[in-house]
Amino acid sequence: MESIRQLVAGNWKMNGLKANLAEIDAVKGDIGGAACDVAICPPATLIAAAADRAAGSPLLIGGQDCHPAVHGAHTGDVSAEMIADAGGKLVIVGHSERRADHGEPDALVRAKAEAGWRADLLVILCIGESEAERYAGETFGVLDRQLAGSVPNGASPKKLVIAYEPVWAIGSGLTPSNDDIRAAHAHIREELVSRFGREAAETRILYGGSVKPINAGEILALPDVDGALVGGASLKAADFLAIVAATG
Ligand code: PEP
Repeated sequence: MESIRQLVAGNWKMNGLKANLAEIDAVKGDIGGAACDVAICPPATLIAAAADRAAGSPLLIGGQDCHPAVHGAHTGDVSAEMIADAGGKLVIVGHSERRADHGEPDALVRAKAEAGWRADLLVILCIGESEAERYAGETFGVLDRQLAGSVPNGASPKKLVIAYEPVWAIGSGLTPSNDDIRAAHAHIREELVSRFGREAAETRILYGGSVKPINAGEILALPDVDGALVGGASLKAADFLAIVAATG
């Protein structure tokens, strides 16, 4: 298998005002020689401005969610086409905060992923077990169910990135053991290959959940970890850049 170029993607969640675009400038100015692909997904209000600032640099800007439809009577929603029109190149779907706060089932996540592809966006699709599921020994079963239900047919490494994000690790400062991360990633890769064939082995599988400058080097060096989805530590360019540098 060819070596996979890692991806470090920042998810600003519902954080960021125009003043925070200075962080985009700082990231853009520092990733010229990065050993990985770098992306930031700011809130929808900042996608266009962030994409303008990132233009001409390797920094990719994306959305945090999209509606399955192209347009229509869906107050408050944003379509994948709107993200692309604003200059976005990728979209996160199925984040556990969307699955929990908005009751998004796998079938909806799947439709959102299809919408992302329809708009030529790279889709980062999030899966991961809750704390209760983990302690019940159900982690792999949950991952299998989410992969089967959320990942559309026609997935390929150019269009799809999986983010393994144990729900209990997000924003908590907790992370699974290295062995547990490695085992989950290897399992996800096996599942993708068994459904989509050998080419799917090159699908990037990111780890997400309390990745910080202090633990990034260790996590990003694990086999089958092809990058990171970073929440809190993506808000400050210095922290995020330290994580990007840990890929090298
Ligand atoms: C996330 O929400 O995708 C995430 C990984 O958050 P944090 O890095 O803050 O745990």
